[in-house]
Amino acid sequence: MARIVQKYGGTSVGDPARIKNVAARIKAIRDEGNELVVVVSARAGVTNELIARAKEVCANPSEREMDQLLAVGEQETIALTAMALHGLGVQAVSYTGAQAGIFTDKVHTKAKIRTIDAKPLEKDLNAGKVIIVAGFQGINDEGQTTTLGRGGSDLTAIALAAAIKADKCEIYTDVDGVYTADPRVVKNARKLDEISYDEMLELASLGSKVMQTRSVEFASKYNVVFEVRSSFNHNPGTIVKQEVAYMEKVVVRGVAVDKDQAKVVVSNIPDKPGTAAKVFRALADANINVDMIVQNVGRQGVANLTFTVPQTETAKAERTLAPVLKEIGGGNVSVDEKIAKLSVVGVGMRTHSGVAATLFTSLADAGVNLELISTSEIKISVVIARDQADEAARVAHAAFHLDEI
Ligand code: ASP
Ligand code: MG
Repeated sequence: MARIVQKYGGTSVGDPARIKNVAARIKAIRDEGNELVVVVSARAGVTNELIARAKEVCANPSEREMDQLLAVGEQETIALTAMALHGLGVQAVSYTGAQAGIFTDKVHTKAKIRTIDAKPLEKDLNAGKVIIVAGFQGINDEGQTTTLGRGGSDLTAIALAAAIKADKCEIYTDVDGVYTADPRVVKNARKLDEISYDEMLELASLGSKVMQTRSVEFASKYNVVFEVRSSFNHNPGTIVKQEVAYMEKVVVRGVAVDKDQAKVVVSNIPDKPGTAAKVFRALADANINVDMIVQNVGRQGVANLTFTVPQTETAKAERTLAPVLKEIGGGNVSVDEKIAKLSVVGVGMRTHSGVAATLFTSLADAGVNLELISTSEIKISVVIARDQADEAARVAHAAFHLDEI
């Protein structure tokens, strides 16, 4: 007998037939004698619909009311999943986040989990019930409903697995696992059997949006091993766990492309102490996420700063920088939205050399120009033209023989 936490995402519980499919899968695992806590998301599209409805009645809805509203999506699916299980003769009970003892801080719409009081869960598990928990929601210590940020059901599952010391945590989605590249773009991309937390984090935050980033950070911190797999078949998925020595044998684990970034160039600014500080202080105060910062060598007292921001924030970045340029005495801002960020990721880069040379040579051979380059211990990223991004992903994937390993 094992204690298992499963999470089913929005497409897996997208309609009544799919909820029944999930219920049948749960019953099969239960019938093997396992204890089960199952986290479900809202039906695919429901959270977005609710957000759109809020905007129809109010231009700037309050965050507390937003949480009241968004928690509804998951509350529908927990009840329906429990009912589907009852229909199969399985003892099941649904829990909201609050009922599951998930206590968060006070930050509405992106609350952090503080503690989980697992006593109610343990009681029903001991009574032989399957427990269906609403993902993405909790309660703060003033009794208010909170939500954990978009994609937060993943976090609910990982945190519950840690709290009840589950033997297994399975994240069910609509893909078979984590791939060496986006299989829609790179036809011979391979599903990975396993990947380290750090690699998964880099790939997730770089556009392979399999899981919520925060949930992977949480899993890494509390050492929760989990498996990403599909609810539409019985194929084994990808195990995500702490790095182990043999993982370094593979230099590059995967190639990720992020097409949601834009490049910002702040040119002709004074080349003196404090300029960059003022620019990035203003952007930080405006909550704009900056990445890949490059400054060229100053000439004749002026310098250029180049960086990337999420494409949704380019207008805000321009607005934020206008008064800063006035203050520092000159400069221009230009934005290029037709870029993409391509990254190769692998813990093996810590111990292997020549990765950059291989990547740059393959891209050069394909006629791809590199606009920005940045590196970390386990990642090399380049900014390139967006219309070359798919071809670049194929070329890089082949250069590191990712279809062969
Ligand atoms: N329903 C929420 C969302 O769409 C949480 C989740 O699905 O994980 O973001
Ligand atoms: Mg999700």
